[in-house]
Amino acid sequence: MTSTVGKVFLVGAGPGDPGLITVKGLDLVRRAEVILYDRLIPHQLLSEAHPDAELIDVGKVSQRPQQKISQEAINAFLVEKALEGRLVIRLKGGDPFVFGRGAEEALACRAAGVPFEVVPGVTSAVAVPAYAGVPLTHRELVTAFTVFSGHEDPRKRESGIDYSALAASARMGTLVLLMGLVNLDLIVARLINAGLDPETPAACIEQGTTPHQRVVEASLIQLPAAVQAAGFEPPAITVIGSVVGLRAAGVNWLSKVDQALP
Ligand code: SAH
Repeated sequence: MTSTVGKVFLVGAGPGDPGLITVKGLDLVRRAEVILYDRLIPHQLLSEAHPDAELIDVGKVSQRPQQKISQEAINAFLVEKALEGRLVIRLKGGDPFVFGRGAEEALACRAAGVPFEVVPGVTSAVAVPAYAGVPLTHRELVTAFTVFSGHEDPRKRESGIDYSALAASARMGTLVLLMGLVNLDLIVARLINAGLDPETPAACIEQGTTPHQRVVEASLIQLPAAVQAAGFEPPAITVIGSVVGLRAAGVNWLSKVDQALP
C-alpha cells in the first residue's frame, strides 16, 4: 500500500500591506489545506483561505517566552501535516529566507523526504523603507545596501556583529537594521564608535506598510532618544545613510496617496 506524501510551500506573505503578497503566493493561500502562519503576516490574507482549510497560528507569543512554539515543533508540524498527504503552506512575514528561518524548515522537509517549494516574498527590509519614502539606493549617493539583524543569540558571549565592517560598508551604501529596536541605543553607539558619522541621516519605521505606519527621522546619534520618545514597539526597521534625505527631498509618497485612486 502506498500513501501519497503532500507538499510544503514556504510562502512569503509580504511585510504588512496584504496587497504585497505575490500572485503565486495568494493562489497557494487559496488552495492550501493547511496553513501554518506567523505573527507578522498580514492577517487579512487568512480570509482568502479555503473555508475547510486548517489554520494554525505558530507565532503566538505567550506571556512567558519559553512557551513560544519552538522552531523544532514547527518543523515537526510541517512534516507531519505533509505526510498526511496534504497541501501545506508555511506563511511567513516578508520573505521566508530573510531572517525567517525558512532554510531550517526546508532542511527539515528534505530530511523527512517531504517535497517542498519556496515562494519568495517582498521583504520588509526593502518594502518598509520604500513605504516611508526612503529608496535604499540612489545612483548619485550609494552603490550598495547592507541588511543586518540586531537580534543576537543571547547565549553568545561576544557580539557576532562586526561593527567595523558595517561602518566600512556604510561608507559606500545604506544600512538596514532589522530586529534592532530593543538594542537600538547600543547598536548606534557601537556604529559611531566604529567610525560612522554621528550626523548620518537615519530613520526608524514602525509597522511599515500598514495603516499604523509611523516614521521617526533624526541624525544617527539622536535617533535612539527620538524613537524612545515616540514609544516605538516592534516590528520596526532602521535605515541609516544619506538616502534618508531623499524622503524630505520629495520621495515621501504615502501621506500624499490619493485616497480615491481611480
Ligand atoms: N522575513 C521577514 C523578516 C523577519 S525578522 C522579512 O523578509 O521581512 C522580523 C523583523 O522584520 C522585525 O523585527 C522588523 O525589524 C522587521 N519587520 C517585519 N515586518 C515589519 C513591518 N511591517 N514594519 C517594520 N519592520 C518590520
